[in-house]
Amino acid sequence: MKNYVNNIEEKLFSSCQYSNEIKKIAEYLNNEKHKCFGIQINQDVDDCSDFSPLLSHNLNNLGDPFTGKGGHLVTFNYERELVELVAGYFNIDSSEVWGYYNPGSTYSNLHGVHLGMSKFENPTLIISDEAHNSFVKAARITRCKAVVKIKTDQFGRMCPEDFEKQLRINRTNNYIISFCSGSVTKGAYDDAETLLSVLRNLGIDKSQYYLHLDAALGGMITPFLLENPLRLDFSIDEIDSLSVSFHKRLGIPMPGSLFLARKKTLNTLPDHPYAEHYSSYDTTLGGSRDGFSPFVTLMKLKKIGYEGMVSRTNHVLEKAKWLCELLRNNDINASCNDYSPCVVLPAPSSALLKEYHLPLYASPEGDYTHIFTMEHVKKNAIYTFLDKYLQSNSSNRVGPT
Ligand SMILES: *Cc1c(COP(=O)(O)O)cnc(C)c1O
Repeated sequence: MKNYVNNIEEKLFSSCQYSNEIKKIAEYLNNEKHKCFGIQINQDVDDCSDFSPLLSHNLNNLGDPFTGKGGHLVTFNYERELVELVAGYFNIDSSEVWGYYNPGSTYSNLHGVHLGMSKFENPTLIISDEAHNSFVKAARITRCKAVVKIKTDQFGRMCPEDFEKQLRINRTNNYIISFCSGSVTKGAYDDAETLLSVLRNLGIDKSQYYLHLDAALGGMITPFLLENPLRLDFSIDEIDSLSVSFHKRLGIPMPGSLFLARKKTLNTLPDHPYAEHYSSYDTTLGGSRDGFSPFVTLMKLKKIGYEGMVSRTNHVLEKAKWLCELLRNNDINASCNDYSPCVVLPAPSSALLKEYHLPLYASPEGDYTHIFTMEHVKKNAIYTFLDKYLQSNSSNRVGPT
């Protein structure tokens, strides 16, 4: 035991090693970040160094931001203001919604499934076959026994025909249903209106299902499109709750997501116990929660402003269209959904996948990957990628095609 302790002490850093290590990782991150093409994260967060004075404090938003008394140092007032601001983006009056900040949309999706599970006895969870893995995980955590996956079309949207067919086959009393605003692999938007009309035509009443919207990606896109063409928000009465991530589109240093739920729905659910040790109703998944990120998120949204978000969103979506066209002009079979920053293309060599932090998706039509044209993905870097892509494809080719 003594030796073991001594060994640990020998590994203590000198202050020089300590700052070298910080420098080393910062350098690595600076070199890599402009090549992070593949995961839906906006790496444009340089301006967040403004918040460094806050790193000298522990900000713990312990419990519920609306009713909790909190730990010692909290940012509850900012967290509540964030909920109210974002509620407006999703077309609901701030007095009609409750919400809080999570470490990511996996948690916010889990919270949605959890509320559906507390509303019904033995419901069936209905998701698309391209839904984020967090739903199957949430089903396991909440002991939801039945999960039905609906086929998606070539664009990645839930197929209304299969939705209807599966609802007929899996007829039961209650459902938890999730629609998607900006799917993981193709950035697709589900057609909520058509899917809801399927439910209505089958005579499935709203009292029989809980509807969650996974807007992890699309939640920071659709509110900033002119004339709200997709309407994936609380203007759809049937939607009970939603998730929206901020690290995906806004640009913040740590992952973060908001869970929002209609108070009208919450009022039909069982009450939460009171957590005496931190003087709060136990409404949140986490106990101790990050108080830094909701502040950063609110400040950035207020600094950029609605009009700023509109123009940023336009820019990113135009860059996706531009990239898709550029690839197609080079005989690469690329595609891109409307209003989506996601460009799908045939997978390149594994070396290029690794260099540009791209995922590999297998499909019967051939392996593919995707690029998200976030702010930090610059056109110069894209040209370099394209050169390498074309080169590696031509050297891989065996004989004429
Ligand atoms: C990223 C994503 C999630 C999960 O969010 P995390 O913040 O990574 O936990 C869920 N759904 C969709 C559609 C996503 O894009």
